[in-house]
Amino acid sequence: MSQVQAPNVYDAEPIPEAARAEIDRLLSTGDLFRYTAAQDAPVTLLEREFAELMGSKYALAVSSCSAALFLSLKALDLPRGAKVLIPAFTFGAVPSAIVHADCQPVLVECGSNFRMDLEDFEAKLTDEISAIIISHMRGHTSDMDAIMQLAEARGIPVIEDAAHSLGTLWSGRKIGTIGSIGCFSFQSYKLLNAGEGGVMITDDAEIVARAVIMSGAYEHNWKKHDGLQAAFERWQNKLPLYNLRLQNLSAAVIRPQLDELAQRVTSGRSNHDYVAETLNSSPWLDVPPPLAQELRAPDSIQFNLVGMSDMEVTAFTRHAEAAGVKVQVFGKSTDNARAFWNWQFIEGEMPDLPQTRAMLMRACDVRLPARLKTPELDFIADALTGAASEAMAEQRAYGT
Ligand SMILES: *Cc1c(COP(=O)(O)O)cnc(C)c1O
Repeated sequence: MSQVQAPNVYDAEPIPEAARAEIDRLLSTGDLFRYTAAQDAPVTLLEREFAELMGSKYALAVSSCSAALFLSLKALDLPRGAKVLIPAFTFGAVPSAIVHADCQPVLVECGSNFRMDLEDFEAKLTDEISAIIISHMRGHTSDMDAIMQLAEARGIPVIEDAAHSLGTLWSGRKIGTIGSIGCFSFQSYKLLNAGEGGVMITDDAEIVARAVIMSGAYEHNWKKHDGLQAAFERWQNKLPLYNLRLQNLSAAVIRPQLDELAQRVTSGRSNHDYVAETLNSSPWLDVPPPLAQELRAPDSIQFNLVGMSDMEVTAFTRHAEAAGVKVQVFGKSTDNARAFWNWQFIEGEMPDLPQTRAMLMRACDVRLPARLKTPELDFIADALTGAASEAMAEQRAYGT
């Protein structure tokens, strides 16, 4: 038996020491607003560094990934009521951002590998669709080659919700740079932690200029965003100011973490793959493999319960919790924000999505932060395979 205590997978990592001097400077000067300094405010520097890291022309840091998604839709200038295609397996914030932008989400089925079902995607990609948000839920990349081909053939813009995909590669390309806009989160459960925050990246000057103004670059504050003079002048006073800016303290917390990103990606992936191998040795647990083009950057693990009845699923989560590992079955935990039937704020009748529903009733979610070490990973993996065996043995013993 392992002597390791059940690891706390909810704790964050400490913010790098290097952030302290800058935070002290900001506190002593009170210079917290991104547009006070004449140049090189921490938020501006973060945008420059993030754009460079991703190899994209422009980055706009904002208050959350939800804000980035909202501004992306607004920047595309979609008409009121425009339909936006999204995978039905995502976080409730995604359809919410669409509703916030006065648009209508259209949900696409997802398969047992957690990725969007391309047949349903193609069937729903009609002339009525104005935009697509591909949410790479929990960092599982949907087939971007097929998606981009279908979207480009119809001239429909693709926004990537890469909130959980920072560091993921698709055929060597960075996720978030494949669609016209990529959106990321700095909320605490993501790879870069500022408590709250987000960023959008694009190579499109018109889109970023519109988003910058709407994010709250009122009057001539847009002059502090480089190289877009003509585009900004076109939109001066023509767009609402939604004030979704990031503040300097958040940028100061994030910037030193950029240096740690590569390490977090590598550790996260090797931790994930290590645990996946043990889970896949159980006949009751299945971790779907990545797509061939995909090099993942996970900080959690998802797996399906195979051949279990509803009662056995309940027994499994009970045994896992007793062993010290809390497992969330997406579709079974009450009011889960990742179960589409709980998005009752969407207008109209909720479509029947049997494939996604079936997946959510068996798909499990366990956090697996990059900081975990081998004994802790063994603890989690053994607790899960043990719980599955116990749940199934129990059932056989009681069965007739
Ligand atoms: C966290 C998350 C969001 C929302 O990010 P916020 O910064 O909290 O708004 C959106 N989509 C996915 C896939 C996420 O994981």
